[in-house]
Amino acid sequence: MRATTRRQMKSALQNFPVRKRRTTTPAAGYTKAELEEFKLAMEEMASQIRQDIKAHNRILDTNTQSREEQNQAAYFLNRQTELLRHVESAMTRIRMGVFGVCVGCGEKIEKERLLAVPHTQLCVDCKNNGRSARRITAMSTTQ
Ligand SMILES: [Zn+2]
Repeated sequence: MRATTRRQMKSALQNFPVRKRRTTTPAAGYTKAELEEFKLAMEEMASQIRQDIKAHNRILDTNTQSREEQNQAAYFLNRQTELLRHVESAMTRIRMGVFGVCVGCGEKIEKERLLAVPHTQLCVDCKNNGRSARRITAMSTTQ
């Protein structure tokens, strides 16, 4: 069960069309069309996660599983619930038009990174440099 849902997640991510880097990039942030793509991807992720949560709630309800399986389901459930919160807050930022821009350097965050970690507000460089971590916590109004 767990393996299947994880595989479904992965394929949902792989289906997202990732464009080749353009030669001319807009000054800051993603274009409206790109944000729309993100929105669709996030909506798909959210509905996938909601299905996973439903399925794992069923496992916990049936009571036919071993304690270990129930623990695993509960653990997975917590993680998915948290992820769903992140995806939903990403959707809010997309609506507000502030999604995908690094709060550390103002550059666009890599598309692949945004899809893998929808709640990130730092590009890879800034993350690796540990830049602005404190400022981000202070600035983060979502959640
Ligand atoms: Zn950055």
